[in-house]
Amino acid sequence: MLGLMQNQPLLISSLIDFAERHHGEGEIVSRRVEGDIHRYTYKEVAQRSRQVANALDAMKLQFGDRVATIAWNGYRHLELYFGISGSGRVLHTINPRMHPDQITWVANHSEDQVVFFDMSFLPIVKAIHARCPTVKQWVALCDADKLPADSGIPNLASYEALISVQPSAYTWPQFDENTASSMCYTSGTTGNPKAALYSHRSTILHAYAAALPDVMCLSARDSILPVVPMFHVNAWGIPYSAAMTGAKLVFPGPGMDGKSVYELIESERVTYAAGVPTVWQMLLSHMQPAGLRFSTLKRTVIGGSACPPAMITAFNDQYGVEVLHAWGMTEMSPLGTLCTLKNKHLTMSEEDKMKIRLKQGRAIFGVDMKIVNADGAELPWDGKAYGDLLVKGPWVVANYYKGEGGDPLVDGWFPTGDVATIDAEGYMQITDRSKDVIKSGGEWISSIDIENIAVAHPAVAMAACIGMRHPKWDERPIVAVVKKPGMDVTREELLAFYEGKTAKWQIPDDVVFLDAIPMGATGKMQKAKLREVLKDYKLPGL
Ligand code: AMP
Repeated sequence: MLGLMQNQPLLISSLIDFAERHHGEGEIVSRRVEGDIHRYTYKEVAQRSRQVANALDAMKLQFGDRVATIAWNGYRHLELYFGISGSGRVLHTINPRMHPDQITWVANHSEDQVVFFDMSFLPIVKAIHARCPTVKQWVALCDADKLPADSGIPNLASYEALISVQPSAYTWPQFDENTASSMCYTSGTTGNPKAALYSHRSTILHAYAAALPDVMCLSARDSILPVVPMFHVNAWGIPYSAAMTGAKLVFPGPGMDGKSVYELIESERVTYAAGVPTVWQMLLSHMQPAGLRFSTLKRTVIGGSACPPAMITAFNDQYGVEVLHAWGMTEMSPLGTLCTLKNKHLTMSEEDKMKIRLKQGRAIFGVDMKIVNADGAELPWDGKAYGDLLVKGPWVVANYYKGEGGDPLVDGWFPTGDVATIDAEGYMQITDRSKDVIKSGGEWISSIDIENIAVAHPAVAMAACIGMRHPKWDERPIVAVVKKPGMDVTREELLAFYEGKTAKWQIPDDVVFLDAIPMGATGKMQKAKLREVLKDYKLPGL
């Protein structure tokens, strides 16, 4: 017997319709590439998204055509999120931090028809446009009078000119909720990037889940600053969840340095922020020496890579800001777990609470997870056994776009490539990427643990731990370290700093000081590149 409820498809257009009707006055504030601060309301987002949809119709784009953006977090990007997906096209957010050859590759692979870009990325577009034959129209996100006369890009249009001639009335099409809505290419550390192709249904379900109290806890009373980029995994779904809840949105544009982020948090009374550890490190480095304080910020979600304990402590103890450690990936839309404490853990000692906060957290309803050993057998949730982390759920990929890379699933589960423990309360902790784990004498050493200890040293800005071949132990860890400006620490001092903080055999064999650690397009350390940098390195005594 079927239920007798209305079968209304879950569509992204309904989010902006809702925000317009119920939170029409809700504010969207953006730091623009032009340098100024722009502010308007959900009502205007909705109107201009419909103008975008009309403009795409006028360009004769088909249902399902891919339309790309190369843009910072900002109001025009938000309009494109709703206008492109809402009208049945697929929003392809391109990460501008990729190499131009890789950008060309993804634009061709996804067969983008139109590309909207921020003026900061004009040099990229100049470099690639001739190699992107599917793109019929390049559109610069600016006023008509800001268009460069001599860009060399044929038929280059201004966004404002393009949409201003369009009516703001538009009836969003209704279609199957499983229709593709947007796509995002993975970082692709090896081989070509692969794209996760999200659907309207997966996006709406993820938006509901993200807003839950034990997840991001978003509401109309919040002022949210997503520093996490809209060009990678949809800014963790915040644009959708914000429209769903009517929260105020504050976009940093290109200004991700500590000073710009701090100013925006204070001037826009931000209560909630989201970003990767590197961004928060820049913010803390700006605030600490100047003795600055937050007046409104209450919570910050930190994810994308492991959040060092020193950062959680700094936010919590010095600034009274709760850190919510989160884990996810492109293939998961991206949220998988978030670390909010259960009631019974609130009365624990600060030290014990910290042990939990360091974990990546509990599964969100909608995400099933398990850990398995090398034979695929499930491991216990005891907080000790570690194994490959597998997930499944309605916002986890079933396949990559165009079947790239073959069937990714194992008996219906998606292998995340992460190694983790899960404790009896369901808190999951990532110990490593499976390819980064250090195998020493038959035991595993978590590179994240080794890095966390190093960055707790006051003179260390960044640390990356990798395994080096060893004739007896198979592999031994070394730690590559970038010192904070004007600070000093020696190899011996840092190795001594490890004493008592981890098992003796896990202490790195060596410290290598570098000016920088190679970083990838999504703000993660690139250990493969680091290995190249250290290719002539020899372990002490070998
Ligand atoms: P991406 O698909 O680029 O978002 O990268 C996803 C990967 O980032 C995950 O599979 C993890 O290896 C890593 N990651 C994300 N969040 C965390 C976190 N909180 N702690 C440790 N690693 C993380």
